Amino acid sequence: MPLAEQPSIDATAEPSAIERVSRIYGLENWGFGYFGVNPSGHLSVTPHKIPGLAVDVYEAVRDQVGNQLSPPFLLRFPQILDERLASLHQAFATAIAEFDYGGRHIGAYPVKVNQRPEVLRRLVEAGQRYDYGLEVGSKAELIAALSMPLAEGSLIICNGLKDDLYLRLAMAAAKLGRKAVIVVEDLQDLQLTLKLARAQDLLPPIGLRVKLGARGSGKWEDSCGEFAKFGMSTIALVRALDLIKEWDAASQLAMLHFHVGSQVNDIRRAKQAFKEAARVYAKARKAGFDIAYLNVGGGLGVDYDGSRTASEFSMNYSVQEFANDIVYTLGEVCAGEEVSAPTIVTEHGRAMVAYHSMLVTDVRKVVTPGLVADGEFAEVESDAPPVLELVDIAEGINAKNFRERYHDAVQQRGDMNSLFELGYLGLRDKAKGEALFWKICRRVARLSRQMKHRPKELQDLDQMLASRFVCNFSMFQSIPDFWAFDQLFPIIPIHRLNETPTERGVLCDITCDSDGTVDRFVDTKHFKESLELHAPRPDEPYYLGILLLGAYQETLGDIHNLFGTVTELNVEVGTDGQRVVSQPIRGDNVRDVLGDFGYQPEALREALARRLAERKQAGLIGDQDEHEVLATSSRVLDDYTYLV
Ligand SMILES: *Cc1c(COP(=O)(O)O)cnc(C)c1O
Repeated sequence: MPLAEQPSIDATAEPSAIERVSRIYGLENWGFGYFGVNPSGHLSVTPHKIPGLAVDVYEAVRDQVGNQLSPPFLLRFPQILDERLASLHQAFATAIAEFDYGGRHIGAYPVKVNQRPEVLRRLVEAGQRYDYGLEVGSKAELIAALSMPLAEGSLIICNGLKDDLYLRLAMAAAKLGRKAVIVVEDLQDLQLTLKLARAQDLLPPIGLRVKLGARGSGKWEDSCGEFAKFGMSTIALVRALDLIKEWDAASQLAMLHFHVGSQVNDIRRAKQAFKEAARVYAKARKAGFDIAYLNVGGGLGVDYDGSRTASEFSMNYSVQEFANDIVYTLGEVCAGEEVSAPTIVTEHGRAMVAYHSMLVTDVRKVVTPGLVADGEFAEVESDAPPVLELVDIAEGINAKNFRERYHDAVQQRGDMNSLFELGYLGLRDKAKGEALFWKICRRVARLSRQMKHRPKELQDLDQMLASRFVCNFSMFQSIPDFWAFDQLFPIIPIHRLNETPTERGVLCDITCDSDGTVDRFVDTKHFKESLELHAPRPDEPYYLGILLLGAYQETLGDIHNLFGTVTELNVEVGTDGQRVVSQPIRGDNVRDVLGDFGYQPEALREALARRLAERKQAGLIGDQDEHEVLATSSRVLDDYTYLV
């Protein structure tokens, strides 16, 4: 019985039980040293990767619920940002030392990947020691970047299409003591930039964005290559260099910029791109341009499924290998061409921020197809042949005959449906038959899991029988990439990880959209269509974490069904191992989302009040009714948009 009472938690569970359960969720594969399970069976986060300095995620959530806040929560672990930053820079430092590279490396954070001010500020502050900068793609991102406490040696890299004001603001950066490189995409932009700078008597550093012939790899490979939306072809590049010479502006050409596309999954493709980029740099340098920076863009992947392969949501290389390949390739090419090695600039976004945030949602109900209590419908005395057959099959099924009996059951159910359509079967008879059929399916599924080679038709039973775990969140707000292109994210209960999960389920969000179903889960072999979960206990919340949400998700979320932003918490671990949780940033209330969509919440409330007054006047409702409806409306406007 899937929903019956479960044995209570065994507090002294063997470590092996925890290991077994962790393996079910693939924690070791995708956890990257940040995620683990503590002896209480709770998900823990080790932001510095130092064992012992861990946060108990379940306890953090329970505290907030104790403070009258409700899930969903977005938990941020800012210390993971620090750790990511340190490990990226360490990887480049190691590579530079190993290959005796003649230049240095600096990074810049691409704001579009997660533009929340607290994320930007944290990265910029933690990045000061590395001269870490920012990459922006619009006026809005630029002005946000200019307000950040950047280090002296860091860059603001201005990408994207630019109008007059964008250019003016970028040129004004120097007056603020910031170094903003204006990266242009084509000749027209270049001309505009040179003209505007000349008119103001300014000499802003300029970058040229170059298209590579080599394509990136993975989901986003189209953002690179001959037909990419951004950048100059070789023809355009040659013309641009000529134009710069004509304007006598060679000293302003500070950067060549490339971007191989996001989530590069295959290192071989990236290597090819680095080679080409290095060659372009060396040739331009030889043509008399002392270009200081070679910007190889972003693209460093995140191993969402933990497979360490060139699959869509993984990558077949480590950060160190990626850094080695860049440094080694540039060093080699520059040595061969006898030009000095440039400062390497990288713009990794996804790999910086993906790990740092997770969504915690609570399961609100579990809907299990065809679930009936033992003995339910036993009193229905049906004499319809298919129903009688199903009774026989259910009784006679065993480890030897289950596959054959399953085929029989499918056939009998077909017959039963035909009888019903023709009017020969009552509702109760059909209910009994269906109950028997589901019972048979459950037995067959269980028995067939022991098979060495389980046929597809029996594997499909798992999906068919999977319970719908209805979770308090909106896919469209919190994991838009799952909806848009089946991006996989690790999902794991944040407690009870010392108990073997007994159920299999898919997750449904609370939007009224049938697309709002999570039915693809991380697995070492490709993906799985249902997830192992625990049967929720009555009167005890069951919390799930959806992990690795820091990159691109917060940016793209939308307000489907008017479910708004979720409540956010910063969670850190103190040097003594204590949990430090920030003051929560409350998610949108109903008033907020209505306001964002052009409603006027107060006018809305007044409209209700007028309507109530009219109905009271007409004698249809009383004072008390009017008062109550108004009070309820006010409470709704102030309430969280999610289930409370
Ligand atoms: C989006 C973007 C990046 C970030 O790419 P990631 O794959 O997230 O590292 C870097 N540079 C440019 C120009 C971009 O447009």
